Amino acid sequence: MDFHKDTSMEMNDGHRIPVVGFGTYAPDTVPKSKCEEAVKVALEVGYRHIDSAYFYNNEEEVGRAIREKIADGTVKREDIFYTGKLWSTFCAPERVQSALEKSLKKLKFDYIDLYIIHTPMALKPGDDLLPVDENGEVIFDNVDLRATWEAMEACKDAGLVKSIGVSNFNRRQLEMILNKPGLKYKPVCNQVECHPYFNQRKLLEFCKSKNIILVAYSALGSHRDEKWVDQSTPLLLEDPVLNGLAKKYNQSPAHVALRYQLQRGVVVLAKSFTRKHIEDNFKVFDFQLTEEDMKAIDSLNQNLRYDPFQKCLAHPEYPFADEY
Ligand code: NAP
Repeated sequence: MDFHKDTSMEMNDGHRIPVVGFGTYAPDTVPKSKCEEAVKVALEVGYRHIDSAYFYNNEEEVGRAIREKIADGTVKREDIFYTGKLWSTFCAPERVQSALEKSLKKLKFDYIDLYIIHTPMALKPGDDLLPVDENGEVIFDNVDLRATWEAMEACKDAGLVKSIGVSNFNRRQLEMILNKPGLKYKPVCNQVECHPYFNQRKLLEFCKSKNIILVAYSALGSHRDEKWVDQSTPLLLEDPVLNGLAKKYNQSPAHVALRYQLQRGVVVLAKSFTRKHIEDNFKVFDFQLTEEDMKAIDSLNQNLRYDPFQKCLAHPEYPFADEY
């Protein structure tokens, strides 16, 4: 595929996914109105793939921004590719469709384009997004992910979502779904942390072999929310190699990090609530990295996971203990 021209990729269910998506997560300290404004700017600039989640607590704002841009004629609903995520307190199969319906209600949408299981780690059902015990430890739940997947398939059959996929799954967990007796639909994607310091080479190869698209989050080095990310980790966009390549092409290091993913067949998310960054980040279709540049970026890998989901290390389905 020539990513110089193609701005979307076909998924294994026949639907297409725009290769550059707009991320909307921000820590709770950031006013939600900033997210709403940013989504509107993103749609004006040309992004058509918007990534959100029940967990981000911004679906009302994201939905309102999209509906406003539909109402003013900037976009049509059918041109938008909206990704939503099943939060981990809703993994029990009988809770899946009602979770999706809650999201649809907040968004005021009739359907979601792509619905993915946010993490393979089910948490205790209830109103708290992160249920904790008296010692502050997150309370886990024991759910067979294959049953969760069957409930996801039912949501697709009910016409509430067009495509279904997963996020933060490792190879074993993907295989568990793929090998499930009676599997009706394969996951179309696995959305995972992926950037030059953590390039997911092996997981990407595996996903490609199964016709599953890898969607990269934290592709610019993450939100660095101190609740989740160790503040002593290096800043990706300050990397000398990325900066050298940025100079060579008269682009920004962010462009190089995004372009890198497109050229290896990865769909990439970029979050920004800053107008200039939102505009700039979308200009990734006007230059191409050479094979040598790609190798130089590959060599930056140091298996650095910015967000290792530290609070869930003891979960039986903790996905990041396996090699990939
Ligand atoms: P990211 O996209 O790696 O980076 C965002 C950070 O980079 C922001 O602080 C942003 O600041 C800055 N930035 C953006 N463009 C820039 C530019 N051109 N130059 C300099 N700095 C720039 O962050 P992320 O939020 O971790 O990941 C992206 C999206 O992936 C999320 O928003 C969310 O939608 C999704 N995600 C999913 C999961 C999951 O578990 N499935 C986990 C994490 C994230 P400004 O806002 O000031 O531009």
